[in-house]
Amino acid sequence: MVNIERPHIEIKPRIYLPADFDFKTWDDLEPFYEELKTREIKNGQDLRKWLIDRNEVEVFLSEEGAWRYIHYTRNTEDETIRSRYQFFINEIKPKVAPYSNDLDKKFIESPFLNELNEEAYHIYIRAVKNELELYREENIALYVKSEEKSQEYADLMSQMTIDYQGHEYTLSQAARFMKDPDRNVRREIFEKTKARKMQDAAKLDDIFTELVKIRHQIALNAGFNNYRDYKFKALGRFDYTMDDVYKFHQSIKDEIVPLVDELTEKRKEELNVDTLRPYDLDVDTSGKPALQPYKDSDDLIQKTVECLSKLHPVLGEYILIMNEKGYLDLDSRKGKAPGGYNYPLDEVGIPFIFMNSSGKFRDLITMLHESGHAVHSFLTRNLYINAFKHSPSEVAELASMSMELLSMDYWNVFFKNEDDLVRAKEEQLSGIIEILPWIATIDKFQNWAYTHPEHTLQERNAAWIEIFEEFYPPLVNWDGYEDYKAKRWQGQLHIFETPFYYIEYGIAQLGALAVWKNYEENASKGLEQYLSALKLGYTVPVPEIYKTAGIAFDFSRDYIHELSQFIRTELESLNKEKITK
Ligand SMILES: [Zn+2]
Repeated sequence: MVNIERPHIEIKPRIYLPADFDFKTWDDLEPFYEELKTREIKNGQDLRKWLIDRNEVEVFLSEEGAWRYIHYTRNTEDETIRSRYQFFINEIKPKVAPYSNDLDKKFIESPFLNELNEEAYHIYIRAVKNELELYREENIALYVKSEEKSQEYADLMSQMTIDYQGHEYTLSQAARFMKDPDRNVRREIFEKTKARKMQDAAKLDDIFTELVKIRHQIALNAGFNNYRDYKFKALGRFDYTMDDVYKFHQSIKDEIVPLVDELTEKRKEELNVDTLRPYDLDVDTSGKPALQPYKDSDDLIQKTVECLSKLHPVLGEYILIMNEKGYLDLDSRKGKAPGGYNYPLDEVGIPFIFMNSSGKFRDLITMLHESGHAVHSFLTRNLYINAFKHSPSEVAELASMSMELLSMDYWNVFFKNEDDLVRAKEEQLSGIIEILPWIATIDKFQNWAYTHPEHTLQERNAAWIEIFEEFYPPLVNWDGYEDYKAKRWQGQLHIFETPFYYIEYGIAQLGALAVWKNYEENASKGLEQYLSALKLGYTVPVPEIYKTAGIAFDFSRDYIHELSQFIRTELESLNKEKITK
């Protein structure tokens, strides 16, 4: 059995802030920042102590901000909750930023910096220097503005519902009907969804126009030509270049798109339709109704615990702890923000999972995905300072995407019937292939948008369509829905809320496949390597974390080819299982 620590959820006692510390306004917080800023540091020991104290304040504040965000996304319609969140964004964060910059400078300029010679500090110091280079006081107000704009996006999306047969459905709930074997039902729901989204399309376009403007200005202020280049640096992408990213797009086009086309052609044949329509892409081609992996969120939690426990008993316990604390909000409801996330709560050291589940197979995958992030949070909770705990997205998404695949051997918890189990695995594997072109499309579109900051709406539509068609050859007939096709990017919340955080999913997806391949070859070694990599947090460079996981940090064409062949083989063997039964 792989040895990982039992979860002891003891919260570290505070040593700097008073145990019962709370704040109402900035005035309550400022003295601590001021003290840190002016404190005399006489030796390396003092510097370490200073870092710990600073960390405590930051951890406290990050957890406070996390809760305000979580409450807001759970109840976007509640004015009190909203104003508490906004107060944090508008009043607290802008006050913290200049102090953080001063503290960063104090740290980097300390004559005792070279006494922090453990590798983890090198990673941290590199990140701090990066922050210092990007910091501009005039950008603080622009960050606030861009957060407000992203919030407008979440508000609009959280209000979208459709009526069908006397029932009101959120869009997440309505998406279930895309699995209905009756094509007329699917078309009707698709058209209602389209109509609802198009009702706000112009508003979403305006929000994005504003965001591009604000973000472009942020980049100019920091001395960059465009926000793409600024963000590349801000995301701390130390181990690859923009050119590698462009090559990655091209490799997906060359290696993956043909495979997706094959799957699409096969779908068309199996559905026995003259022409595939956008509402034909999610339904099971066997004519069977949608998979039902669980009944409701309680059932989802219980089964997730059971499934992960089979992978390793402690993993299930992590989810149980979250459930006992009330740190899972899984069901889709009107008024909930879109999407799903695992939010690490840095002081208590237990994360929170938020999602919009409505019983779909995809929702199960989201739960397993977020569980992977949660496990990562638990495994890093005892690392020395916060910066050591939070790895960049190339690693964070490796944790989550690998969990989707590693758990597959135990999916019989969700699918009692062998036939459903095979269908589920098939859907997961084809989903992995199909997501890669989407990742390239979204990334390339953002690259275009921010390198053409003055673009008009017509140009934006045209660019989106051109990029979309590059990765999606015309196998699907969008006739009559062209306006909707031109706005499909609006459904991708990352574009609004976490710009450029998307290509990492592609990099990590390849890594996750490699982790799974290792696990299939040698389960205990594969799991051991995966968990050891997660435990590192961000104390070594990304390629070294991948190496610890037993995989390469690679997204070259050859690597994509190799892994896509692996999936192809796995899909074929699932297919055989179906035929022989
Ligand atoms: Zn994720």
